[in-house]
Amino acid sequence: MNKPVTAVSNLGAIDAAHHLHPFSDMKKLNASGTKIITRAEGVHIWDSTGKQYLDAFAGLWCVNVGYGRKSIADVVHAQMLELPYYNTFFGTTTPPTTLLAQKIAEKTGPKINRVFFSNSGSEASDTWFRMARVYWKALGHETKTQVIARKNAYHGSTVAGASLGGMKWMHEQGNLPIEGIHHISQPYWYAEGGDLTPEDFGLKVARELEEKIIELGEENVAAFVAEPIQGAGGVIVPPSTYWPEIKRICAKYQILLVADEVISGFGRLGSWFGHQHYDFEPDLAPIAKGLSSGYLPIGGVLVSDRVAEVMVNELGDFYHGYTYSGHPVAAAAALENIRIIEEEGLVERVRDDTGPYLAAALASLTDHELVGEAVCVGLMGAVQIAADKATRRRFKKPDDTGTAVRNQCVNAGVVLRATGDRMLFSPPLIIERSQIDQAVDTLRNGLDWLKDNRG
Ligand code: PLP
Repeated sequence: MNKPVTAVSNLGAIDAAHHLHPFSDMKKLNASGTKIITRAEGVHIWDSTGKQYLDAFAGLWCVNVGYGRKSIADVVHAQMLELPYYNTFFGTTTPPTTLLAQKIAEKTGPKINRVFFSNSGSEASDTWFRMARVYWKALGHETKTQVIARKNAYHGSTVAGASLGGMKWMHEQGNLPIEGIHHISQPYWYAEGGDLTPEDFGLKVARELEEKIIELGEENVAAFVAEPIQGAGGVIVPPSTYWPEIKRICAKYQILLVADEVISGFGRLGSWFGHQHYDFEPDLAPIAKGLSSGYLPIGGVLVSDRVAEVMVNELGDFYHGYTYSGHPVAAAAALENIRIIEEEGLVERVRDDTGPYLAAALASLTDHELVGEAVCVGLMGAVQIAADKATRRRFKKPDDTGTAVRNQCVNAGVVLRATGDRMLFSPPLIIERSQIDQAVDTLRNGLDWLKDNRG
């Protein structure tokens, strides 16, 4: 069998000359040099110098079943030989595509029974955005086109995805958001809660949704979108009052509730989907990442019966789709990935064992003088760095602070992510307790380093 490409001596120089990386300052990256990842197994990755790292971020929140799963490779190989591609446009499907849709529907609540496939989370954002508008139009509500999203949210990098997201610095680079998208506050109590209790703050920011609906006019609003736990924004775990109030408001005004499950789907929160953890049923829900554990690109939108019945019975053609919607090889990889999650009880393991263990380990860091808060649901956690804990004052340059601590951790062999001054954990769902200890101890050392070098 052919071997994968690994042994090229001047790959760094080739990369600098030819490869533009996503979300990267290329001048800085070319000066510092790209890290070349050549191999992975379980929760570990290796770079081209042979250095091993514990990947406490599961790639990019996605390698839920861990690296090196031979059974996924075998299924992909077999599917490639049997049927490497066919489309799902003109009255056709392929066995893995249809069986995957069925399998996903089995994991959702009783009111979600259909899936529309994409290749990524960003495409899934564009898909539900169009679907929401089409849904209301098909029902004769032509004016219901406006969508409410949240500041500091991340919903992808396509034009609709980046517009729905609430990252100001992304908007500034491309005249975004596009027309018809509005942003309300996020439930980030630590930074924005002031003197309110977390519970009161949760209610206050949830009620901004109601205020925005009234301001825009109920007859003009199509949907509200939010991540169950804001991920790239810094693992912003909402206060307990937040989701019940959002649920109440969406029901009162009959607007579509969209849960972005791209990170929270497929076990990350100790439930199959994040909306199950927070006890609500979305009308639409983009998925990706853990659907295939990143082994092949695939995403989609969970479509509730409420929306599907209109799509199926009222709409006629939905003029939307991707050449690779429901790609048979990606679908086969996803099916095998879900089979592994089921067989190894990974959702239950996160819920009952490793999730609470990580939460306790992160909470133990709050005795550190530079830790303002630690939050964790399932295997999605964050540690907030504080310059002064008592007043919740932050360092003057939060991005530089977080990046410096992250670099310390990476040099010590543990890959984490920093969003500003929040240190994020999202390890593969197979991580063991001793590996959680290693990751959290490494972060403690990084925080000690910051204490000694705070300048
Ligand atoms: N939605 C959420 C919540 C995400 O975290 C991401 C990616 O990180 C996306 C959407 C976009 O997914 P993709 O990068 O697969 O396009």
